[in-house]
Amino acid sequence: MSFKSALFLWKYNVGKPGSIQYFRQLLANQTLPQEETDALRLKKLQQLVRVAYHKTKYYKRRFDEIGLHPEDITSLDTVTALPLLTRQDLTENFNDLISSDVERKSLNLVTTGGSTGVPVKVYHPRSVCRAAALWRMQSWWGIEPGADIATVYRESDALAQRIKKSLVSWPNRILLLDARRVDEKAARRFLRKFNRLRPPLLHGYAGALDALSSYVLDHGIDVWSPKAIWTTSSPLTRVQELRLQQAFNASVYDQYGCCEVYYLAAECPKKTGLHWFSDIRHIEFLDDSYHPCPEGVVGSVAITDFENLAFPLIRYLNGDRGRSMPGPCACGLTLPRMDKVRGRTTDLLRLPSGAVIAGDYMTTLFDAEPDAVRQFRVVQHKDYSIEIQVVPNCAFENRDTVFESVRQVVVKHAADEVPVTLTRHSSLEGKGGKLRYVVSEIPDKSERAG
Ligand SMILES: [Zn+2]
Repeated sequence: MSFKSALFLWKYNVGKPGSIQYFRQLLANQTLPQEETDALRLKKLQQLVRVAYHKTKYYKRRFDEIGLHPEDITSLDTVTALPLLTRQDLTENFNDLISSDVERKSLNLVTTGGSTGVPVKVYHPRSVCRAAALWRMQSWWGIEPGADIATVYRESDALAQRIKKSLVSWPNRILLLDARRVDEKAARRFLRKFNRLRPPLLHGYAGALDALSSYVLDHGIDVWSPKAIWTTSSPLTRVQELRLQQAFNASVYDQYGCCEVYYLAAECPKKTGLHWFSDIRHIEFLDDSYHPCPEGVVGSVAITDFENLAFPLIRYLNGDRGRSMPGPCACGLTLPRMDKVRGRTTDLLRLPSGAVIAGDYMTTLFDAEPDAVRQFRVVQHKDYSIEIQVVPNCAFENRDTVFESVRQVVVKHAADEVPVTLTRHSSLEGKGGKLRYVVSEIPDKSERAG
């Protein structure tokens, strides 16, 4: 490990004691024999279920309704006896899901547009070093904890947030390209700094990174090759992946996670599926009757987060669909594998000037006031105009003010190039029940060429 990385970890550990030890533990877990992992997982599941039953009003009520007691969870298979948690359950029982053992100030509120355009809120405990799972995942790609990183992501408007972020990452550097609006000038400046910084890791929204790689290839720009490119939010298409690999001459890794539960799974260098983090999460794939799918069959993803004892998420249906993959991986990791999650695609929004707005950023539009809407979708029409469609939450008083400020934010990123409207609907329907919630009706030239 480099001196800089050791310094980063040491500093992190001062802020959150136990972080280094936890990271080491996760590294040890990733190659444990199956029986040992299963024993560890059962212990964590039982602990979570006990906390859920004895410390939260919601699970006490639900367990009692079906006559279930924590002692009934005697093996990993018995997880199927536990009730499922839908997004609606989560929204309607938000306060009853908080453990009576924790103080609010020890929790981080996380809000998300999620994968279906229905905003939800969850709490994460501050005490858990969630970054340990991130560091472990990056170690598979040859990246040290806290390495310099270039990222195409959303910039925080709040100065305090930005300062906090740079303090957390010190002594390592973060180079950011604001994905809320990427134009030629910003892309050129970013690539110049990228070539100077030479970071081992390039990270970002899949769609925005794809736009950047097209720009690099179209203009024949010489760029630094990082060790790894890590895409997040939407899955990459094979065409996008090859383009990114070619533009930066680097390996591209897919990672799967959601705001409710960060870091669920990631690709290893063998790139034959994503290893899911079975020592800290339980993932199930369920058929339409919510029974476990046979291996390899696609079903609804249900997540149980062993790390969150403050706001238990047990068998949480996050709206994604996926499937398990059989057999061990040649890389030596014993963590099980799943296929790429293909459900949640978001389109890139394009402006007449050539600038782009990352569709994945659009999914966060209501993060500040998730209660203002029941559902939302962003549509870019063929004439480039942008329409924000919302199903208002009539119980939320200031919704009109929130709607106008969200519209203004999009107007700002579109820099008055196109009209931006917000329309109200009683429901939003998707094809086949699946709602794509950032949709562009403008044909994608590069996708056709691939
Ligand atoms: Zn592997």
